[in-house]
Amino acid sequence: MYNNEKSLKLFQKRKDILAKKDILPQELLDLAEFAFKNQFKAFNSSSSVLPQDLKLAPVNEVISGKPLLARSSFPYDFEASLKLFHILLDYLKNSSGPIKASAEIIESEIKKDPELVRVAFEKYLEADDHFFRIFGEKTPESPRTLNFLAQTSITPSIAGITDKLNLALPQNHTWTFGHCPVCGSLPYISSLQGKEGARHLHCSFCHTDYRFLRMVCPFCDEKKEACFEYFTVKEHPGFRVDVCKTCNMYMKTIDFRQLDKKNLPILDDLESLTLDIMARNEGYNRPTLSAWGF
Ligand SMILES: [Zn+2]
Ligand SMILES: [Zn+2]
Repeated sequence: MYNNEKSLKLFQKRKDILAKKDILPQELLDLAEFAFKNQFKAFNSSSSVLPQDLKLAPVNEVISGKPLLARSSFPYDFEASLKLFHILLDYLKNSSGPIKASAEIIESEIKKDPELVRVAFEKYLEADDHFFRIFGEKTPESPRTLNFLAQTSITPSIAGITDKLNLALPQNHTWTFGHCPVCGSLPYISSLQGKEGARHLHCSFCHTDYRFLRMVCPFCDEKKEACFEYFTVKEHPGFRVDVCKTCNMYMKTIDFRQLDKKNLPILDDLESLTLDIMARNEGYNRPTLSAWGF
C-alpha cells in the first residue's frame, strides 16, 4: 500500500468524494487523510533492513499454517515510528472535541513516563489489547486514542519490513487458512479481485493482501455453504457483509468490480463503518479492530 505512490492519490481522490456524501464526520476524514499522508512519508524514511538473526519459519511450514514471523517478533524502526507518533499527537492536540482532551492527557502521561510510547509499541506488537483498554480509562471520551496513535505510527515501518518478508513466500498462492501467512494475524476486510472474483484477505497487522478460498470461513474454517449468509445495503454499493453462523463472526467484503472505483482497504474499512454497526446490531462480531485502531 505505501510502496505505491498511486495509493496516496487514490486516497485523496476518494476522500474528496466521500466528504461530499456526508457519511462520515469531516474531522474524521481530515484526520485519516493527515495520518495516511504522514504514514507515506514515514514509510519512505523508515529503515526496513532485516536483522541478520531474524528467525523465519521454513516456507513448507508457512504453507501448513505457521506464520513466517510472529507479529511480536517483528523488528521496526523505533525512531521513525516515534517521530510519526508525535506528529499525530500534535495534530490531535490542535483539533477540537473530545480527542483533543485525550491527546493532552496522553502528552502529560508521556511527561510522567518517557517510556510510555515504547511500551505502547511493544504492547501493540504483542496484540495486548488489555493494556490499551486499561489506558483508555484515562481518556474515557475517546478511549482508543493511544491505540490509534501506536498502531498508525508503527504501521509504515511494519509495512516496509513486510514488503521484504513477502519475498520469501510463494506469490499467487491460494492460502487454505484464514490468518495472515506473514505474521499470523487475522484479516480485517476482504476483497474480490479480477474477472473470476478471487477472494483476497487483508491482514489487520502487516497489511499483506493474500488470496484465500472462496467458500470457507477465515475465522473458524467452516466449509458448509448453509452456514454462510450475506447482506448488502443500497447506500453502500460495492460492499457486502459476509456472516458465518457457526462462529458468529462477520467480515466486510469489497467488490468494486462493477463500479468505477478502485479499492483501498484501509479507506474502504472507514467508509463502510455503518455496516459494522449494522452487523453488530444483528449480533455478529468482528475479531479485529478497524484498520485505524478504533
Ligand atoms: Zn500479516
Ligand atoms: Zn466461522
